[in-house]
Amino acid sequence: MGEVLAPVLNAAETRAARGVMKALVYRGPGFKALEERPKPAIKAADDAVVKVLKTTICGTDLHILKGDVPSCVPGRILGHEGVGMVESVGPGVTMFKPGDTVLISCITSCGKCGYCRRGMYSHCASGGWILGNTIDGTQAEFVRIPHADTSLYSIPEDVDQEALVMLSDVLPTAFECGVLNGKIESPGISVAIVGAGPIGLATLLTSRFFSPDKIIMIDRDDNRLTEARKLGADIVINNAVHDPVAEINKLTGSTGVDAVIEAVGTPEAFELCENLVAPGGCIANIGVHGKKVDLHLEKLWSQNISITTRLVDTVTTHVLLKAVATKKVDPACLISHRFTFDRILDAYATFGRAAETGALKVIISVTGV
Ligand code: ZN
Ligand code: ZN
Repeated sequence: MGEVLAPVLNAAETRAARGVMKALVYRGPGFKALEERPKPAIKAADDAVVKVLKTTICGTDLHILKGDVPSCVPGRILGHEGVGMVESVGPGVTMFKPGDTVLISCITSCGKCGYCRRGMYSHCASGGWILGNTIDGTQAEFVRIPHADTSLYSIPEDVDQEALVMLSDVLPTAFECGVLNGKIESPGISVAIVGAGPIGLATLLTSRFFSPDKIIMIDRDDNRLTEARKLGADIVINNAVHDPVAEINKLTGSTGVDAVIEAVGTPEAFELCENLVAPGGCIANIGVHGKKVDLHLEKLWSQNISITTRLVDTVTTHVLLKAVATKKVDPACLISHRFTFDRILDAYATFGRAAETGALKVIISVTGV
């Protein structure tokens, strides 16, 4: 009689068999840890539990770690972006089954409440931005996704999963809060993007769906401006070296820029936008602001401008998925570093010191470690 060999399990499979998983946990301002936590289970009929394949770190996670997001309490598993494989579904889930590969939206939506019916999923009465905020998130081996039918997306098998991680948050945020709110779809308008981080660069990428007259990128980091040039910026201005208002006055005959996109989230960046906008133009804010900003209505009241704010609704995720699948846009160019999940603390250190490391988006491969 031959002996029965036990299957060889890797460490992640052994943990899963014990009902536990590894997760990156927020431990209060300034503190985080990679810990063992119970594997999530289905709680409601419309939940899915997803095995995370790829995730990333967002600037918002750094805000949480600074203590800027009081709704996120110590003990929370961080992360609101990722691609994964459905492990189990509740009896109410009809669109997905175990084994399906899915994109996890940063916004959870019930599809039924008043806000969802208006396409404002960001304010869903039982969803919105809850992942990695008020419920456990995606920087873990498994994540529970409420309202799975309307919060997950099927992804085509032959599309680069790392590129698709950019569709959880970065690309729809840039497109909805920057490009659509900035009314870049009107042909021939000028665009200035203040901030050439991942969101600013994603705004640049998605503004090229339309035909702006020129796209001007403004940032203090030459590496990011070089990247912006590669991705199609017509003009780049380093505002640590040059006065962007003087430069733009030269470029526009002192008129200003039609669509000015704020992709930083500081009072200085927003006030710069106020100084750049042309009569009849628009300031579209994307940045996450933690401090008050001066609004210079004494200059702007007569200028026929509009100012927009928005939390991403992810109403364009399905069209952006098609654009990525047909290679109309390749958001993989936003990925600068790759890590395995056991090195997620190194990934945070690299992402958090972007000026030194040149980090844009970092990809964290979760499975098999
Ligand atoms: Zn994010
Ligand atoms: Zn809703």
